Amino acid sequence: MTSNQDSSAIRLRHLVGGRWIDGSGTPARSTDPASPEEAVATYRTAGAEQLDSAVRAAVTAQRAWRDLGLIERGRILRRAAEVLAGRAEDIAVLMTREHGKTLPESRAEVAGSVETLHYHASRARAADGATYPSGHPDEVIRTLRRPLGVVAVITPWNFPLQIPVWKLAPALLWGNAVVWKPASDTPAVAVTLAEVLCEAGVPEGVVNLVLGPGSLGAGLVARPEIAGVTFTGSDAVGRLIRDAVVPRGAKLQMELGGHNAAIVLPDVDPAAAADVLVGAVVGSTGQKCTATRRIIAVGDAYDDLLPELAKRFEALRVGAGRDADTQVGPVINERARAEIADAVQQAVAEGAEVVARSSGPLPDAGHFVHPTLLAGTPELTICREEVFGPVVTALRAADLDEAISIANDTRYGLTAALFTTDERAVRRGLADLDAGLIKVNSPNTGSELHAPFGGLKDSTFPAPREQNGDSSAEFFTWTKTAYLRTTAPREARS
Ligand code: NAD
Repeated sequence: MTSNQDSSAIRLRHLVGGRWIDGSGTPARSTDPASPEEAVATYRTAGAEQLDSAVRAAVTAQRAWRDLGLIERGRILRRAAEVLAGRAEDIAVLMTREHGKTLPESRAEVAGSVETLHYHASRARAADGATYPSGHPDEVIRTLRRPLGVVAVITPWNFPLQIPVWKLAPALLWGNAVVWKPASDTPAVAVTLAEVLCEAGVPEGVVNLVLGPGSLGAGLVARPEIAGVTFTGSDAVGRLIRDAVVPRGAKLQMELGGHNAAIVLPDVDPAAAADVLVGAVVGSTGQKCTATRRIIAVGDAYDDLLPELAKRFEALRVGAGRDADTQVGPVINERARAEIADAVQQAVAEGAEVVARSSGPLPDAGHFVHPTLLAGTPELTICREEVFGPVVTALRAADLDEAISIANDTRYGLTAALFTTDERAVRRGLADLDAGLIKVNSPNTGSELHAPFGGLKDSTFPAPREQNGDSSAEFFTWTKTAYLRTTAPREARS
């Protein structure tokens, strides 16, 4: 699809074997979610030939990349961090145009991506194996890391830079070549990251970027040359990828959806808790896998917290991400907007009450929704299905036991938050909440890049977690164990 507005759009190409080439697929475009008539970027999707060339280029380039050594690969990642930092403001502005998030959110994402590249670069100088004693006096046993080979990286649109960097940086550090298929809503941000990596000195063919729809990703993960797949996205797509990849024995790492609960006990200040909670619901317009989707308030905390939350929801300013006074930007596309509106309508039909929503008018054009606070019961569909937007349901629990059982009553297990200063309640929460990431007195959202990050239950596939340095090495390499004797065997002397 093209329109008159497309003439000023960025023209994108695919990165294959170190060259930027046109696709042979269908015409495609990304648009500004705040002004959807405006194309941000246009391109032709990658066809079968470009996909094939990308996989072959990665296979060809991988061995020399491995042989370059860890230290040199770390240097290249450090240069990538520097190049990215040098382009930070331009990329943040582009991210706000193509994704819709506010400029401060985009700037924070670019800064986090720079930090991630530095972190993985620094891992090049850490120990890369272990030694063990041997039963033989003249022998040492040590482990070696071997890259998987060619890795497929499949990423969503909600953190169009940070999530790809979480995956690409360790994949490259540990000597893999990559074929990357980013989300089709944010291809221009993906192209800038690929440019940064090229400028930093990643050799031809080591990173390949193909742009296109989910079917292109399906074609990629099905290729027998792909030795590992790292995926972040919806659990529905995750299941398809698992079925395509696991039977042939390729390694698979998945970070999927969430339905995250925050439990508030009566001992906390309701106004202070409300400040934190609203940010965790509406940050990035609720389009974070870790966002708070259910607030479970125990006993009196419910009656104290609800009016505090309501005040804050009503005051939220919704608008274009580029406008300085905007607190909540648009959602990614029209389908997402309609899904969120339908989910709220269904919740009301099922008996939920709309307690509050942003009171200002929504801009005329663009994929805007009112951040909304609902009150209801755990049986509501909206308390079971992930709705990827700035909507939360408040639930009442009689005591901590009931709050934990409501929090766990979901097939997901990504994050949970607990607001209290009661040490016994904290111990209980840490032991019994079914979540891979538990925050005490801080928002469900946000994590440090050097600590493990991953979900339980349907929020993941049992695999090493992706953000921790050691876990990254575990996922992106195989371990070999070498038994090294310094003396060669000799013939027995008579
Ligand atoms: P999505 O699953 O629709 O798409 C993710 C990527 O997979 C895109 O690049 C898409 O083109 C590709 N894809 C689609 N079908 C495919 C197939 N059959 N084979 C291979 N690739 C395919 O997800 P989305 O809408 O881009 O992102 C939102 C979802 O991501 C939400 O569910 C959110 O919770 C989840 N998410 C999870 C985390 C986490 O760390 N747990 C982080 C961010 C987002």
